[in-house]
Amino acid sequence: MDLSEHLPDGTGGAPSGVDERRLDGNAAAGVLAEVLTAEATAAVSTCTYCGGRAPLGAHLVYADAPALVLRCPTCMQVVLRCGSDASGTRLEMSGIRLLWWSPQPAGGTGS
Ligand SMILES: [Zn+2]
Repeated sequence: MDLSEHLPDGTGGAPSGVDERRLDGNAAAGVLAEVLTAEATAAVSTCTYCGGRAPLGAHLVYADAPALVLRCPTCMQVVLRCGSDASGTRLEMSGIRLLWWSPQPAGGTGS
């Protein structure tokens, strides 16, 4: 997928100068910490299978499966699975092409 339509300029990975710009994965820690603590149910998901867009909070949840399963509200395909046990936590999101958080208004959720 081409993310260039969704991401700011300069993040698309131009072929020239890549080696000079490359950092190790630790350089992503701040951005990932911000994303992973954001309000997930407000994030709008684009489905890999049908291209439908909906907030994660509008997806169908099957919590009694071996893992927590979210299905697309449009095509019913599995878009996300999350499971944990003593060995750790696993998150599989191959059914989500893109997750998008819009900026939150200052002063809370407004609910
Ligand atoms: Zn779908």
